Amino acid sequence: MEHIHDIALQDCPLCGGTGILEEEGGWLVYVQCLDCGCRTAELAYHAEEERQEMAKKVALSWNLGKVIYTGPGD
Ligand SMILES: [Zn+2]
Repeated sequence: MEHIHDIALQDCPLCGGTGILEEEGGWLVYVQCLDCGCRTAELAYHAEEERQEMAKKVALSWNLGKVIYTGPGD
């Protein structure tokens, strides 16, 4: 299993905070800001190869500033 957490993430496009790659339920990946809570769209994967691909896609979205702000405490 490769380390998708090695993918480079820039600072939060909204607040400059730290973005982390999150995985949910073993089939969803997204990037979320630890400071303001904004996040990228979630992408689903069904296989290990897809997991890598989707992780790269959400990282790219994040790095391009394509985030959704859902408010603190979401
Ligand atoms: Zn932020």
